[in-house]
Amino acid sequence: MDEDRHGFPVIPRETEREGGAQAPPSSYARRVPDPKLDRIATEIVACRACPRLVAWREQVARDKVARFADEDYWGKPIPGFGDPAARIMILGLAPAAHGGNRTGRIFTGDRSGDFLFASMHRCGLASQPTSIARDDGLVLHGAYIAAVNRCAPPGNKPTPDERDRCLPFLVRELTALGRLRVLVALGAFAWDGAVRALAAGGDVVPSPKPRFAHAAEAAIGRRTLLGCFHPSQQNTFTGKLTPEMLDAVLRRGVELAG
Ligand code: SF4
Repeated sequence: MDEDRHGFPVIPRETEREGGAQAPPSSYARRVPDPKLDRIATEIVACRACPRLVAWREQVARDKVARFADEDYWGKPIPGFGDPAARIMILGLAPAAHGGNRTGRIFTGDRSGDFLFASMHRCGLASQPTSIARDDGLVLHGAYIAAVNRCAPPGNKPTPDERDRCLPFLVRELTALGRLRVLVALGAFAWDGAVRALAAGGDVVPSPKPRFAHAAEAAIGRRTLLGCFHPSQQNTFTGKLTPEMLDAVLRRGVELAG
């Protein structure tokens, strides 16, 4: 199997979700191998089910931006990342075009990730306050990070069809993460995706359906969903989301997770 310049397996772009060549295990992103999560991650990385998103992620990876012009972009879907024994999941919308879509790890190499991982480090969920590259040594403690959509979408807006096509990956991750007790949804799109995924996994969703708000809490099945404003630059630069606000949600998650 070929390896990239970081020593990680190179997954052929031509690999199809169904019937194509098998992509290799993806413990590249985890350090602690887990067969179920690795199988899901392998399928995610090989997926080409959304033509619009496949075209976009690959175009971004080809065109790049000036500040990353010398880098090899990942340009493929981004699997979940973290501790197989996680009790808390952090759920985002989708990878950033020049963040996760460049580095190959969710919330890695962009400003949102800088904000998020600094908080996770303060709250004891991450081994270091930064997330720069897949081989930067970052380890998550009791936490797992995923996104509703695994491919970078144009304008950060997946369509409802693209969301629904990708959600089964999250449903399977939720099943594989047997110790998971808390989901922290970063933004309304992630909140809605989490509710849909929990319902698809067999949990009974309260009626009326829980609504997103910062610091909102909703018990769904044996898990609790927490809402948090997304750490986008739009929110963090304007003070809509401060480090203290994010810390408070994550500390509440740690408390609920036990
Ligand atoms: S968004 Fe999800 S379902 Fe669509 S191509 Fe990417 S990984 Fe596949």
